[in-house]
Amino acid sequence: MISTLKSIIESSSNIVFFGGAGVSTESGIPDFRSADGLYKEKYKYPPEIMLSRSFFMEHTEEFYKFYKEKMLHPDAKPNKAHIALAKLETTGKLKTVITQNVDGLHTKAGSLNVLELHGSALRNVCLICKKCYPVEKIIQSESIPFCHCGGIIKPDVVLYEESLDVGIMHSATNAIHAADVLIVGGTSLNVYPAAGMITGYRGKKLVLINKSETAYDYRANLIIRESIGETLGLL
Ligand code: ZN
Repeated sequence: MISTLKSIIESSSNIVFFGGAGVSTESGIPDFRSADGLYKEKYKYPPEIMLSRSFFMEHTEEFYKFYKEKMLHPDAKPNKAHIALAKLETTGKLKTVITQNVDGLHTKAGSLNVLELHGSALRNVCLICKKCYPVEKIIQSESIPFCHCGGIIKPDVVLYEESLDVGIMHSATNAIHAADVLIVGGTSLNVYPAAGMITGYRGKKLVLINKSETAYDYRANLIIRESIGETLGLL
């Protein structure tokens, strides 16, 4: 398996990596979608409600309580997958990392061309004057983080009910379309927009690295059912 992946990478010059929550779980960041049951015991609402735009606007304090406890992982470090991808970019073969994660770990690992479809928890913006704040501002605020101007600061992450950034979507679609190899890792490809974007890949080297089945197994040229960190760490 790994030797096949190595030869695919060897013979390519435009690799795109598309990653989901599974890339970050190996850094100790849980996938909240698969842990829904846990939240029901402690919170009144499911994560899809608590991470929605309307919940943020109407229950800002409760939003931040949940968000800080479940979505922020300031001590998380890049794992073998993030590090291997950053290295592959320096060889010139890997052109773009597209991620659904908001933890900023690809950038921390040294990747330069990262398209964060769902934004980044490391960036936070005042809703009134648009001033940017680092994540420390959120962590250090006892309750709702406020800007100097009095505006509420919102994480620059795409909440439920919000639309994805059109420019980033466009860049991601173009990168996938132009790729000679597309490596998809840590996602079952069931969630929008991942599933739709993969259909834009026209090449014949689709590699899926995921511990469980994905919606695109039938189209894959290579399927590796292993840990993404362990797999990419071998490259
Ligand atoms: Zn402001």
